[in-house]
Amino acid sequence: MRLNFSETGKKLKSSIIRELLKDAMNENVISFGGGVPDPKTFPREKLAEIAKDVVLNEYSQSLQYGPTEGDPQMRKTYLEFLEETEGISGLNEDNILVTVGSQSALSLISTVFLDKQSKYFVSKPVYLGAASAFVMNSEQYEYLVLHEDGIDIDHLSKRLTELEKNGELERVKFIYVVPNFHNPAGVTLSLDKRKALIELAEKYDLPIIEDDPYGELRYEGERIPSLFKLAGKDRVLMLRTFSKILSPGMRLGIVIGNKELIRKMVMAKQAADLCTPSITQRIVARFLQKYDLHELLKPTINLYKEKKNLMLKELEKAFKDMKGVTWTKPEGGLFIWLTLPEDFDTLEMMDIAKEIGVLFIPGSSFSLDGSCSNSMRLSFCLPPEKDIIKGVKRLKEAVVKYGKSKNLL
Ligand SMILES: *Cc1c(COP(=O)(O)O)cnc(C)c1O
Repeated sequence: MRLNFSETGKKLKSSIIRELLKDAMNENVISFGGGVPDPKTFPREKLAEIAKDVVLNEYSQSLQYGPTEGDPQMRKTYLEFLEETEGISGLNEDNILVTVGSQSALSLISTVFLDKQSKYFVSKPVYLGAASAFVMNSEQYEYLVLHEDGIDIDHLSKRLTELEKNGELERVKFIYVVPNFHNPAGVTLSLDKRKALIELAEKYDLPIIEDDPYGELRYEGERIPSLFKLAGKDRVLMLRTFSKILSPGMRLGIVIGNKELIRKMVMAKQAADLCTPSITQRIVARFLQKYDLHELLKPTINLYKEKKNLMLKELEKAFKDMKGVTWTKPEGGLFIWLTLPEDFDTLEMMDIAKEIGVLFIPGSSFSLDGSCSNSMRLSFCLPPEKDIIKGVKRLKEAVVKYGKSKNLL
């Protein structure tokens, strides 16, 4: 059969993360690779009970097609949840769209905003899911390097000034940020930088896409108000998801924003999938009505917090005597970003690491241009504590062995 793929189709390639995770199935390997929550944290009894009720008693909605915008119960309940937990008010059903996880929201954003010549700002390293959705329509990304307190705002300012001078501002479509406990970098955008970012977005009249799957997974420090809360729906499109705080299998994402933009995304969604599964929307709506999600999250937060602190402690022990090795110290989320001296290549190091029995995701997987090759993403949420201890020791061993083989140490 002649498969005459489109230009976009031809560009598609399997993500290295998927390939690497196949190796994670090997039980002798300790994996810091996976970016998924610990299944033990899923409230399965409660969900099972609600699911049964929703299928038996609300079948004419839960088993039926639903509105493209989302189940009315889900939308109403989520708006109440936002108001109660974050004091975000003044929104109505025109400001909310329920998507198949945040990933489909990212894909809809790409559809409604990006042409081949469109520019957009993303961080370096970047969340791979967003990058792959955006690159599908335009490869004209602009990078903002991530520091301990978030993206490089001065560089953003400089680039916007230049683009304006060159008459290219029209081509810039949005600024995409993951403000809390960034995936993969683990860092959080400071309040000062949030304000500066909003100021720039207002000055150049650009939308901010705020992708915030981890905001509720804060283990220490003070919650920083969301960009959405600071700037409102006419500046910020906010993406939330139940994937990291309830269950990724539900595939439920929430988009909050300006009515006109939501409308446009709804039209794109009609063409993409008609509606988000009615059944999981109704289950989660009932779940939020019945239980206090923040209360239920407390044990999860404690579990992840201990694992995170353990990994930081073990990294300190293992790498404190090695010059040029740094790592981020996240206050929440699932990831630590470790950077080796410049000439190390973590993708190349994979073979040695697998032999020794430890997995991570090489940093170059989180850039579109092969940069970040001396960094790696480490996830602490899945391995049991004894494996975190053993795994970090193996990681050190792999770094040393690789470094020596390359005459870098
Ligand atoms: C995990 C994650 C998502 C969530 O994807 P879903 O499609 O909702 O499962 C979105 N953005 C970032 C930055 C993530 O880490």
